[in-house]
Amino acid sequence: MALFAILVLAFGAWLMYRLLRPRDDDEAQPTDPRHRTRQRTRQRRKERPSRSKPGKTREMLECRHCGVHAEASTGVRTGGRWYCCREHAEADAG
Ligand SMILES: [Zn+2]
Repeated sequence: MALFAILVLAFGAWLMYRLLRPRDDDEAQPTDPRHRTRQRTRQRRKERPSRSKPGKTREMLECRHCGVHAEASTGVRTGGRWYCCREHAEADAG
C-alpha cells in the first residue's frame, strides 16, 4: 500500500506546513475566536473617535449675569451675550 504511505506523508507535510506558518494560518481562519475579538476591538477603537464627535456640538458658555456654565442650547443668547436663563438676560439688559 504505497498510496496510503504517500497520503500519510502528504498529510504530515501539510500539518508541518500549517504549524510552521501560524501567521498565514491565523489569517486563513477568520472564524477563530481570537481573531474575531481582535477585529472587534480594532473596529471599536475606530468607532470611538467618530462617536466622540457628536452631531450637536455641546458648547459650554458662561452666563454673563451669574457666571454659571451651561450648555448653549439650554440658555438664552441675546446680542452676542449668553445667559443661563431668560430672567438673567432680562436682568442684565434692564
Ligand atoms: Zn445666570
